Amino acid sequence: MNKQEYIKSSEENILHTYNRFPIVLDKGEGVYLYDIEGKKYLDFAAGIAVFSLGYHYKGFDEVIKHQVDKLIHTSNLFYNVPAIEAAEKIKRISGMEKVFFTNSGTEAIEGAIKLAKKFGKEKGGERCFEIIAMKHSFHGRSLGALSITGNEAYRNDFMPLIEGVKFAIYNDLESVKNQITENTCAIILETLQGEGGIYEATKEFIQGIRTLCNENNILLILDEIQCGMGRTGKMFCYEHYGIKPDIVTVAKALGGGVPIGAFLCNKKAETMTIGDHGSTYGGNPLVCSAASKVLDIFKEDNILDNVNVVGTYLKEKLEQLAEEKDCIIECRGKGLMLGLELNISPAPIIKKALEEGLIIISAGKNVLRFVPPLIIKKEHVDEMIAILKKIL
Ligand SMILES: *Cc1c(COP(=O)(O)O)cnc(C)c1O
Repeated sequence: MNKQEYIKSSEENILHTYNRFPIVLDKGEGVYLYDIEGKKYLDFAAGIAVFSLGYHYKGFDEVIKHQVDKLIHTSNLFYNVPAIEAAEKIKRISGMEKVFFTNSGTEAIEGAIKLAKKFGKEKGGERCFEIIAMKHSFHGRSLGALSITGNEAYRNDFMPLIEGVKFAIYNDLESVKNQITENTCAIILETLQGEGGIYEATKEFIQGIRTLCNENNILLILDEIQCGMGRTGKMFCYEHYGIKPDIVTVAKALGGGVPIGAFLCNKKAETMTIGDHGSTYGGNPLVCSAASKVLDIFKEDNILDNVNVVGTYLKEKLEQLAEEKDCIIECRGKGLMLGLELNISPAPIIKKALEEGLIIISAGKNVLRFVPPLIIKKEHVDEMIAILKKIL
C-alpha cells in the first residue's frame, strides 16, 4: 500500500479520536524519524516526551531483544527479576518507599487516586474523599483521571465523573487553601504543567502546598508523567523545589519507548494492601527490562548533564526568537520541556514545520511545545531554530 492507501485504511478502521498529521512514520535513528516514503524529520516531540534516549540508543535495543528471547510476561502471581531490579533503581532515584508498575500514565494516576481515597477513609471516614486538582491540568483519559483533569472539553460528554473533585488555580496558593475541608484527602498537580500549555510552578506555590498538606494531613500527589525522568534537568521535577511528594506518578519516558508507568508512594501513603489493586501486564519482565536499562543509561551516560547544557542553550535561542518575532508572547519551561506561547494559532506553523522536515507539537491552545529526546545536541537546536525562523 502507498501512503494515501494506509491513511484511508486507518481512517476507515481506527476509531477517529485523533486528528492525525498526514504522515505515516516508519523508523527512527538517533533524533531523526523517517516516514514510509523515506522523508527525514528532526524530532522535537519524541513521541510526546517518551523517547528521551532517542531511537536505537547504544545498548538499549539489545536488552529488550534479549528479554524477548527469555520471557515477556509472567503475571503478577510470580516474581520476576527485571521488575525487582527496576523497582530498586526507581526507589533509589526518587527516595520513595514503594512502587507499583502500570502500563500507562493514566493507570498510574488511577492507582494514585485509589491510594488517596483509602488514605482518606482511614483518616476521616466515609466522606473523606475530596481531591483538589488544578485548572489546565492533564492527568489522562480514563474516568478517574478525567475527573481530576481541568479541561472542560475533555470532560463534558462523560459526566458524571467521580464525586468530590474541586479545581483550584495553578500558582495561586489561596485558591487551593480555600478549597480545603476536613474531607480533603489529597491535592494533585503536575510539577510542571504539560498539556495545559507548559506552565511552571513557582517555589512559593509548590512549597506552600507541601506545607498545607502537612498542616492538614493531606496527601500531596505530584504527576511527573511528562516532567519527570530527567526532562527538566533533574531526575524528578520536584527536586527543583526541595520538597518531596507523598505520591508521584511517572510513565512516558520511563520505558524509553515501551509502555510502562508507575506510581510511587512514601510510608504515609502506602495504604493499599493485598487484594486492593492489580494489573495483568503491569510490571512485566519485557517493559521492566527496558525501564531498568533506561535508568542505568541515565546514570552511566550523564543524561542529566546534557539536558542542562542543551536545555539552557535551547531556552536562550527560543528567548532570542521571542524577542525578534511579534507573534511570540513568551518562552516558558525548564530543561528540555519548553514552550513558546504565541498570539496566533500554532497549527499552520506545525504543518509548515512538517513540510520542512521538523516535528514539533502544540500544548494548550496557543503554545508550541519543545520536548525533544534528551540526547539532542546544540547542532540539532540550531537546525530546529533555522527551520522555525524561516517559517515564522
Ligand atoms: C501523558 C500524560 C498522562 C497520561 O499518560 P498516558 O500514558 O497517556 O495514559 C497523565 N499525566 C500527564 C502529566 C501526562 O503528560
